[in-house]
Amino acid sequence: MKSLRRPYSEQRPTDIGGGVWSVPVPIPGNPLGYTLIYAIESPAGPVLVDAGWNHPDAWLALRDGLAATGMDIREVRGVVVTHFHADHAGLAGQVRQESGAWIAMHEADAELVGTMREAEEDAQRTERAGMLRRAGAGAAEIEAVTTAYRPEPPAAPDRTLRDGDMIDIPGRRLRTVWTPGHTPGHVCLHLEDADRLFTGDHVLPGITPHIGVYPYDRTDMDPLGDFLASLEKVAELGPLEALPAHEWIFQDTAERARAIGAHHEEKLTSLVALLAEAGEPLTIWEIASRMTWKRSWDDLPSMLRGMAAAEAAAHLRALEVRGRVRRTAEGDPKEDMVRFTVHS
Ligand SMILES: [Zn+2]
Repeated sequence: MKSLRRPYSEQRPTDIGGGVWSVPVPIPGNPLGYTLIYAIESPAGPVLVDAGWNHPDAWLALRDGLAATGMDIREVRGVVVTHFHADHAGLAGQVRQESGAWIAMHEADAELVGTMREAEEDAQRTERAGMLRRAGAGAAEIEAVTTAYRPEPPAAPDRTLRDGDMIDIPGRRLRTVWTPGHTPGHVCLHLEDADRLFTGDHVLPGITPHIGVYPYDRTDMDPLGDFLASLEKVAELGPLEALPAHEWIFQDTAERARAIGAHHEEKLTSLVALLAEAGEPLTIWEIASRMTWKRSWDDLPSMLRGMAAAEAAAHLRALEVRGRVRRTAEGDPKEDMVRFTVHS
């Protein structure tokens, strides 16, 4: 698809018809530029889909953006958060404070938010350092990743959502479509009375969302497998108009969802080839450094290397579930590093 990406400075609050407005809210210092917040009109006050990054400039953009559409942030009835990430859920707490709105989120992300809000910073850092070491990261990389800035956890929701739940918005039919993958509790929202789908980060027109597994070596989940199933799930809803949280609005969610699925299948195929070619078990770090990324591995800052490793780990885990690769216990038994090889 031709890139229609425009910088934040060219974005404006827009009436996209059918009682729905899009309000761009900046993500300071992030190349993605902005989150598109959607406001759905209702006689009981607007309901927002996502809220934006927790930053004073983002708050002003949201408040003034809503005002430009004739809505008052103090009258917001509720905020449905597509997933817990800071560029989506960050401002939900402040919107609630200002308006008394409820915040709704899928129960799986709500549980993660609860854990994040309780976790001790030191314990989290130690856990992350262990994860990086077992994956084969170097000392400098471990230091850089574990000391990097992390945004505050978002506000805890008042309501939790499950697949199929209707959102409380008078006069409209807005249904929760659980789409785990990018996060365990990511949801899309199907505006059934208008054949539109709020896709969050699940289906974006020009980029694909980060799919990682944390810690890298856990075996009790398969986020990429979940993501691929979630892509098929939204594709089966038909050629709905997509209202994504970044980039631009586009037609036909189904077509794009299937293209993203195909992209990951290609990546899985080349990963098996990479492991077969290596001829010996490799650490997650070694594998990530040999995979193809938007920038060369040498140019990736440590934080992005950490994300690339998580992405590699998610692909390895999906291949393991399919019986194509296995993890090995070879090497020094005292060393708890994880290595992967092709399944013979
Ligand atoms: Zn996200």
